[in-house]
Amino acid sequence: MEAKHDVIPISAVDVGVEARRLVDAVLRSGHLAQGPKVEELEALFAEAAGTDHAVAVSSGTAALFLALEALDLEPGDEVITSPFTFVATLNAILASGATARFADIGEGFTIDPDSVAAICNERTKAILPIHLYGCPADMGRLEAVASERGLRIVEDAAQAVGAAVGTRPVGSYGVGCFSLYATKNVSTGEGGMVTTSDPDVAERIRLLRNQGMRARYDYAMTGFNFRLTDVQAAIGIPQMRRLAESTSRRRDNARRLTHALQGTPGLTVPSEPEGRFHVYHQYTVRLDGSTAEKRLRVVDRLRKAGIDTGIYYPRLVNGYECFAAHELVVMDPTPRAALAADQVLSLPVHPKLAEADLEHIAGALQNALDA
Ligand SMILES: *Cc1c(COP(=O)(O)O)cnc(C)c1O
Repeated sequence: MEAKHDVIPISAVDVGVEARRLVDAVLRSGHLAQGPKVEELEALFAEAAGTDHAVAVSSGTAALFLALEALDLEPGDEVITSPFTFVATLNAILASGATARFADIGEGFTIDPDSVAAICNERTKAILPIHLYGCPADMGRLEAVASERGLRIVEDAAQAVGAAVGTRPVGSYGVGCFSLYATKNVSTGEGGMVTTSDPDVAERIRLLRNQGMRARYDYAMTGFNFRLTDVQAAIGIPQMRRLAESTSRRRDNARRLTHALQGTPGLTVPSEPEGRFHVYHQYTVRLDGSTAEKRLRVVDRLRKAGIDTGIYYPRLVNGYECFAAHELVVMDPTPRAALAADQVLSLPVHPKLAEADLEHIAGALQNALDA
C-alpha cells in the first residue's frame, strides 16, 4: 500500500510500470553500465532539444562542467551568469578555471540581456543563462548579445526539459545542460545530459566523460568518469516519451493556480514572458513587499495547512563566504536578484496533483497572506 501523504509535497516522482519493465530488462541483461539504453535516452534528448547530438553524463553539474571544459576557457576568461540559481551553475564555472561575473535578472526571474551587455568586456568568453523554474531565458536577445561579440552560450537547462522560445527548444541555443536529478521534470535519480549541434563539442564531451578514451586504452586527452548507466537511462526513457503529456499537466496546474490566485493583494503570480514556453518545474510566486522573515511565516502557515513549499533560492549564490571570497568571483551588484531571493515562494505544481489539491493550495496561500 502506498503511504498516505498528510502533506502535499513540492515534487513527486512518477516512474511508472514501463520504467520498471525496462529496468528489469537491463538487470536481466547483465549490462548495467553505459550501453544501448543510454544511447536511446540520448536520442530522445536530441530530438526534444532539436540538436544533432546529446551526450548523457552522470549529473547536471557534470553536464555544465564538461560544456565549459569543451569551450577551452583559459585563466582570466570570464563567464557571465545569474546569481539567482542553484550552486551547481557557479561551481561548474569555477571548476573550469574561468572567472564568474554576474548580471541581474529581468522578466521571469531569468538573466537580463541588457545587464549582460553592460558587463561584457574583452575577457568575456561565454554567457551562461539559467532557464529558472522551467521558464526559458530571453534567448533571442541573449543570442544577439553573444553574436555581436563572438561569445559562446552555455544553457543551464537543468529545470527546463521541454521548454522553448517560440518553436525552438532550450538546449539548442548554445551547449544545453540538463539535469536528471530526483526532483527534476524528468528524473533518473541522478543524471545529466548535454545537447549540441556542434560535432566537435559533442565529441570532446564524449571523450571527457570517459577518461579521454577514443577506443579502449587509446587516450586522446585527460578525462573523467562522468558516465550515466543503462539502469538510470531505463528509468528516464519512458518519462521522455511522455514528456509532452507531463508538461501539459504542469502547465494546466499552473493555469489553475494562476486563475485562483491572480489579483490577490500582495502577490505576483508567475509570468510567462511573450513567446516563451514555460514548463513549470516550479510555480513560483512573489510575495510583494515581503522580507525573508515575513516569508517564513507564510511558509509555516502553509505547512500547517498540509502544503510543502520551496524557496529557490533563499540567498544569491555568490553571497556565501566561500564564493564571495573566491579569487575567481567578481561581486557584480544585482539588486533585482537580491530582492527576488527575499520574496519568492514556490508552490506544488507537479503532475500528480489533483484539482482539489490545487484549490487547497490557492486557498491556503490566500489565508496565509491574510493572517
Ligand atoms: C539541479 C540543478 C543543477 C544541477 O544538477 P545536478 O543533476 O543536481 O547536478 C544545475 N543547475 C540548476 C539550475 C539546477 O536546478
